[in-house]
Amino acid sequence: MAEAERPLPRFPEPDTEPFWRATREHRLVYPVCRSCGGVVFYPRRHCTHCGGDDLEWRTSAGLGTVYTFTVIRQHGHPWFKSRLPYVVAFVDLDEGFRLMTHVVGTDPEAVRVGQRVRLTWEDVGEVALPVFEPA
Ligand SMILES: [Zn+2]
Repeated sequence: MAEAERPLPRFPEPDTEPFWRATREHRLVYPVCRSCGGVVFYPRRHCTHCGGDDLEWRTSAGLGTVYTFTVIRQHGHPWFKSRLPYVVAFVDLDEGFRLMTHVVGTDPEAVRVGQRVRLTWEDVGEVALPVFEPA
């Protein structure tokens, strides 16, 4: 039986195309407002802090902290089912934005709130997905 395909986010859209393009080079990028300095994530056309539209893309160093997480133990989709159990987490990047992601490369029971993690990549077709492992 063929291996099930991983469901992917819908991309690219105009506001997120630079994000997905950077993933191909294993770079995690995020928009910053040139007017107020606010980090805008998920990527949008306008600053969520001041409403300005003068945004620039910066590259994250890929270090962060687990804000919260859950261990997924059942799933109906064959691809996810093959990965059980796995960790879905919100990671706070040191640059000031939060990303919903997976924590990989560790026993799911060992993941903790406040744990330091670092970026790694899961290559999937035309893009790569940012996931995290213990730092
Ligand atoms: Zn702003």
